[in-house]
Amino acid sequence: MVAQAVASVARKPKEYKSDVHPTWCPGCGDFGVLSALYQAMSQAGLDFNHAVLVSGIGCSSRIPFFVKTYGFHGCHGRALPTALGLKTARPDLNVIVAGGDGDGFSIGAGHLPHVARKNVDLVYIVMDNRIYGLTKGQVSPTSNLGFVTTTTPYGSQEDPVDPVTFSVIYGATFVARGFSADRNHLADLIIQGMHHKGFAIIDVVSPCPIFNKDDTFDYFKPLVRKIDGAHDPGDRMKALELAMSVHTSETVPIGVYYRREAPSLGDRMEALKRANKGSDTPDLSAVLDVFKV
Ligand code: SF4
Repeated sequence: MVAQAVASVARKPKEYKSDVHPTWCPGCGDFGVLSALYQAMSQAGLDFNHAVLVSGIGCSSRIPFFVKTYGFHGCHGRALPTALGLKTARPDLNVIVAGGDGDGFSIGAGHLPHVARKNVDLVYIVMDNRIYGLTKGQVSPTSNLGFVTTTTPYGSQEDPVDPVTFSVIYGATFVARGFSADRNHLADLIIQGMHHKGFAIIDVVSPCPIFNKDDTFDYFKPLVRKIDGAHDPGDRMKALELAMSVHTSETVPIGVYYRREAPSLGDRMEALKRANKGSDTPDLSAVLDVFKV
């Protein structure tokens, strides 16, 4: 994140815990994500007085309550535009967005391409359990074909959305996947996302053992494969090929799929201000230069 405000003293992961205890079910994958987030904040030296955690609605979207930063528990599917407004108004803050697959890829799906193409300086953590857990088990946009839920008693007849594939196509400048059972690896991905200047999305395999009996930790553990260092993350076509391999292979690649440097929305706004400063007749060539990627 561009405004990486660092704490004046090193803080331990437990110092990022709030006084509110997580209300998730025992065994929920979201505990692993929360733990990795504490670790990442500690290792990055994040100043919690200059950090905001923004969420939508869903089991995972309760996460701002459990972290000792400022928080915004918003409307269903509206975490990204809320965070965009916050980051634009207060570029000095580190803004982290978190939510579930239903929140982000169903009702909120229309926001992702625009936040990605604007390259807003945010870290977006998707806790992907392929089910609506809070409302007790309905099919979600990332549920597998044939998945039986209360709303799909004969099995889902829809192909799932893959958050990583979509994010690469939409032009996100940092795209990764983590696994909530691998805390150190996930914490490292979150730190990389924090240091990335621009929009960083991390899709996290985070099982819901209560309502999704197919996609459990035991199911994923033998499938997860680390890809760090195995390909050039600057190659968008390779990243896309890797992302799409989840449809044809029995593995779930985790790590950084894609990364590129590009001006963030905040950079471009600042450059526009500089280009126009004190002049009624702005230098258009300077303004156009701002938009060169
Ligand atoms: Fe986690 Fe599922 Fe329980 Fe929600 S219902 S808290 S996703 S285990």
